[in-house]
Amino acid sequence: MTTTFHIRPALAQLSRYRTGGVAVLRRTTPESAPGPLVQLAQNEGSYGPLPSAQQAVRAAIAAGNRYPEGDYSTLRRAIAAHHGIPEERVFVAGGTTAIMHYLSLCLLEPGDEAVFGRPSFLAYHLETLKMGATPVGVPLTAEGSFDTDAILRAITPRTKIAYLANPNNPSGGLLTRAEVSDFLDRLPAHVVPVLDEAYFEYVDDPDYPDGIHEFAASATGRHAHRLVVLRTFSKIYGLAGLRVGYAVMPPDLVQAAMSAQVPFEVNTLGLAAAEASLAAPAHEIAHRRHETITHRKLLADALTGLGIPYLPSAGNFLQARVGNADTVAAELEHHGVLVRSLTTWGAPDSVRITIGTRPELDHLIAALPRTSFTRTTGRR
Ligand SMILES: *Cc1c(COP(=O)(O)O)cnc(C)c1O
Repeated sequence: MTTTFHIRPALAQLSRYRTGGVAVLRRTTPESAPGPLVQLAQNEGSYGPLPSAQQAVRAAIAAGNRYPEGDYSTLRRAIAAHHGIPEERVFVAGGTTAIMHYLSLCLLEPGDEAVFGRPSFLAYHLETLKMGATPVGVPLTAEGSFDTDAILRAITPRTKIAYLANPNNPSGGLLTRAEVSDFLDRLPAHVVPVLDEAYFEYVDDPDYPDGIHEFAASATGRHAHRLVVLRTFSKIYGLAGLRVGYAVMPPDLVQAAMSAQVPFEVNTLGLAAAEASLAAPAHEIAHRRHETITHRKLLADALTGLGIPYLPSAGNFLQARVGNADTVAAELEHHGVLVRSLTTWGAPDSVRITIGTRPELDHLIAALPRTSFTRTTGRR
C-alpha cells in the first residue's frame, strides 16, 4: 500500500505497542471460548470507583452539554489542599501518561535523551520517541528497582528527563527515601527528575518516601525548583477508564504544560470522580491497600508452591518468571485469564500479574498449573 502522507519519521517506530485490552476485544468474536475473562493484565484497581465517586459521576452527567472548567481549577485546588501545596504547582491531565506526553513536548528537542530503568513503564520510551528524542533504558537491579548509580552514569549533556518509577512497573521494586534523596542530590542541574508514584497508595513500607511532601513541596523540598512528581487516579482509586492524573511540579513548568495541553482534555465526569475520590475517607483507601497486600501474599505463596520465581513487589502486581512468557500468557488466556507478557518490555521469560479480587486470583491460581510454565528450583 502506498500513502500520500509524509508521516514524521519519529512516529514510524511506535506501532508495535499494544495494550492488554486487545485480547479483551478479541474475546467478543464468536469463535473464542465462552465465559467472562479475568482481566489481570493492566494493573487497574480491581475495586471500581469509590461509591462517592460513582455518585458524583451520576450527578455530573446532567451537565454533560457544558464544557468542563477550562483550567480545572476546582480539582487543582482540591489536590493542592489535599497535599498542602499551592494550586500553581498542580497540573491536571487525562492520565499521567498524558502528562509524560506534555513533559516531552515541553522539554525534549530531537536528539535529546530521556533516561529511565528497563524494563519499566513503556510510556517513558514511547513519549520520548514521539519527539524524535532518544530513550535510554538502564537495566534494573537484581531486585527489580531502578539502579540509580547506573542511571546517573548514563546521563549525558543531551539528557533532559530522568524518570524514576517508584515503585517500578512491572517489577514492583522500591527506592528508599535515602536512595531517592541521594539521587536527586547527585543529578546534574540540566536534567528534570520525574518521580512516578502511580502506585503510591498501595505501598506500606516505612522507608518509602512521599515524593510530594518530602521532595517537591515548595516549603520543605530542596528539589522543589525542578522535581516533577506524578500521581494517578487510575490505580487504587479505580478510575482508569475516566482518565485523570496529576503532577506536582514547578509553577513555570505547569504554565508551559498548560499551554501545550489540548483544551478540555479532562472531561466533566473524570473531574467529578477525581474530586469525590480525593474527599473520600482515608479508611476506604486503606482497606483497598490491605486487601491488595493480603492477596499479593496469597499469589506469592501460590507461585512459590509451583516453583515460579517472582520479584518482591510493593504494587498491585507481581512479576513472575514463567519461562516462555508469550506462550504462558496465551495459555492463560485460553483458560480465561489475561496477564501481561513482558516480551515487548524486554523480559521475554516473565509475565506481570495484576493483583485482582480473591475470586479472580483463585481463577488464575487454578489455571497456572495447566500451562507450560517452567518450574525453577533453588535460587532464581
Ligand atoms: C499505570 C501507570 C501509570 C498511570 O497511567 P495513567 O495514564 O495515569 O492511567 C503511570 N505510571 C506507571 C509506572 C504506571 O504503571
